[in-house]
Amino acid sequence: MNIHEYQAKALLKSYGAPVADGHVALTPKEAEEAAKMLPGPVWVVKSQIHAGGRGKGRFKEAGAGEAGGVRLARSVAEVREHAAAMLGATLVTAQTGPAGKQVQRIYVEDGAKIARELYLSCLVDRAASRIAFVASTEGGMDIEKVAHDTPEKIHTIHVDPAAGYSAYVGRKLAYALKLEGDQVKQCVALAGRIYKAFTEKDMALLEINPLIVTEDGDLAVLDAKVGFDDNALYRHPDIAGLRDLTEEDPKEIEASKYDLSYIALDGDIGCMVNGAGLAMSTMDIIKLYGAEPANFLDVGGGATKEKVTAAFKIITADPNVKGILVNIFGGIMRCDVIAEGVIAAVKEVGLQVPLVVRLEGTNVEKGKAILADSGLDVIPADDLDDAAQKIVKAVKG
Ligand code: GDP
Ligand code: MN
Repeated sequence: MNIHEYQAKALLKSYGAPVADGHVALTPKEAEEAAKMLPGPVWVVKSQIHAGGRGKGRFKEAGAGEAGGVRLARSVAEVREHAAAMLGATLVTAQTGPAGKQVQRIYVEDGAKIARELYLSCLVDRAASRIAFVASTEGGMDIEKVAHDTPEKIHTIHVDPAAGYSAYVGRKLAYALKLEGDQVKQCVALAGRIYKAFTEKDMALLEINPLIVTEDGDLAVLDAKVGFDDNALYRHPDIAGLRDLTEEDPKEIEASKYDLSYIALDGDIGCMVNGAGLAMSTMDIIKLYGAEPANFLDVGGGATKEKVTAAFKIITADPNVKGILVNIFGGIMRCDVIAEGVIAAVKEVGLQVPLVVRLEGTNVEKGKAILADSGLDVIPADDLDDAAQKIVKAVKG
């Protein structure tokens, strides 16, 4: 789960990180009120969407002006103007895709005087089985580009999980960031706070781009992006409460209501599978036969008829889906339950595309009989290979 910049900054502030004062606003009027609570003489008006590259982004609507999604203002009136221009408009950045994202909230912040822009992030390095800090002097720009063009400018420093964070890590970061004097101390403190927030809140990624050195020589968090480990959200109701559903794929939201693991993809074959491993192999074999999966969907081991119905509905609601492959191995899951779920769903939403069903395992004969007797236009398959070939053929004609 991702959160907005203003939420990430509030969280980091609660851990003692140096973050400017700011207020979120939903209307131009609120933006004006927010600006009045800050000292000026410079304010920053920032579009809050779950995507980076806002500064260099452009709005689709001509009325929003030429400037990007991060704008400086020199008066309260100007803050209001920028807020009015951005709110409701669609911001397209390198990370949103061509459709862009509608700005529904803006953040009004006390403007900073920037001497240097640096990069600092904290992430779970799975290859090393450790939390790692990544630091670069090349902040404020696309870090993937920096990593590609000048890899020597990216420094990765791992934290030993047994020892935890120590000042030694912070000093290494300070050296990588070419900090000096009191900034080194500030960096050691900041990295420690980041590490504490990261581990306590079960974050998956915390990225500060840019971390700045102000003209006064102090460190400050200018931008913050935070993502959390979804599997740990149950123990952080405060974090779960920060979720902004308008930023998420409606199909994925619907799926999460039923505890289904669903990820929307770009292809045209909808998949309903039980077990993540089987779902992955199903996607692989679809690709092997020359088509692309429309989604990853794991209905889980002990799915009920209701869950199967919900899953089927989510798949059919996707206009890209030109065919559906149901691939179930009945272990804990019974094939007759799947069959009943599929029939119930088809009765409710209809079936406009070819449907291939491969059932195997517990109650398989019963499941097949239920489907055969249903009168539905189901293409039965004997095994995974057969199923994949049949659905690809049905879709491609
Ligand atoms: P992003 O484009 O979505 O990554 O948004 P950022 O929050 O990183 O802002 C983009 C750029 O706007 C930064 O790299 C800065 O150069 C500039 N910027 C943001 N906040 C301020 C500020 O308070 N003062 C000044 N002078 N520039 C800012
Ligand atoms: Mn940024």
